[in-house]
Amino acid sequence: MSTAFTARRLYTPADVIENPVVVVEDGRIAELYPRPHSELPPNSTLLDLGDVVLAPGFFDIHIHGGAGLDLMRARGSDIPRLGQFLATHGVTAYFPTTVAAPLESTFAALQAMADAIEAADGKAAPSAPEARPLGIHLEGPFLSHKRRGVHPPENLVQPTIAVFDRLWQAARGHVRMMTIAPEIPGAMEVIAEASRRGVCVSIGHSDADLSTAQAAVKAGARHATHTFNAMRPLDHREPGIVGEVLTDSRLTADIIADGIHLSPAVVQLFLLAKGIENSVLITDAISATGMPDGHYQLGPIEVEVKDGKCTSGESLAGSVLTMDRAVRNVTQFARWSLQDAVRAATANPARAAGLAGQSGILAPGARADFVVLDAKGEVLKTVVGGRAF
Ligand SMILES: [Zn+2]
Repeated sequence: MSTAFTARRLYTPADVIENPVVVVEDGRIAELYPRPHSELPPNSTLLDLGDVVLAPGFFDIHIHGGAGLDLMRARGSDIPRLGQFLATHGVTAYFPTTVAAPLESTFAALQAMADAIEAADGKAAPSAPEARPLGIHLEGPFLSHKRRGVHPPENLVQPTIAVFDRLWQAARGHVRMMTIAPEIPGAMEVIAEASRRGVCVSIGHSDADLSTAQAAVKAGARHATHTFNAMRPLDHREPGIVGEVLTDSRLTADIIADGIHLSPAVVQLFLLAKGIENSVLITDAISATGMPDGHYQLGPIEVEVKDGKCTSGESLAGSVLTMDRAVRNVTQFARWSLQDAVRAATANPARAAGLAGQSGILAPGARADFVVLDAKGEVLKTVVGGRAF
């Protein structure tokens, strides 16, 4: 028994297929082809989605919460509620992300995230579309005091393999990404060890100069976290970490394209530098996302949300951005096509995270997780595991 979805257009996302037929069996894509090419499969239920665009479900590799749920405080069994909220914005996969907090509460948060990841893995058929947590992003505690943003200074820790291993054990090996400042003593050893364990090491919250950033890449770093934010600024004679991030084509890098963290012109500059293959969109969203203005928690940090801006003291404290809006913003700020913008929210983060082929792509064998968009990138529906709900 299979389902055949038809639509106006599909982004794989690297390629476009006009009048696509997507045949889904057991939650995976069995076949994918343009309609005039062939007849519909005989034993399948036809689901014509109409004049719409199909794209892989979005993959957010940096998110702290949403719908009132703070991932540093949530129980594992509550985390699916965040997954359901994310699916309404086209997200089908994400990395729950920590903030610097006392180590014991970080361990507890990591255990809850690991519980949610393992539960999602075994889950047969959820009752509503739900984004799946695929791995954990450690944002800290190995961050620069000078570029810590809102991460509390008392919770920053000197990188050692021993502390990294305690975090790794608490997360039961589900750490897939780690943001680290390469200039702090001990960081290079931890970068090397984390990448040896398959973690995508991302440089960020950093005051590194150019040569230190280059040394980090040599040690195994391959991504950069919210480029420009919480980083030594670009100077034309001392380009620093940003100089390395923008010029090294081996690095993927992400930005928060909410129009608050970066000027639209800087979003455009970033996308020109990293191109359609290495640009990644993140939300850095916090529990206030999808909620009214007010006061919220981000782990140990108190955040005030006003007119879509999240602050703690003088600093920005995450965002209330959703991934579908980030995609639309990129089409406006940089005049990118919807296809290219979608790529920065799907295949690129999946490749950055070492999950190419497992998420962020529509191809035979891939999970049938996709988003149904109108021509402007508004989410009409999210399909998870081939279930249209
Ligand atoms: Zn963050």
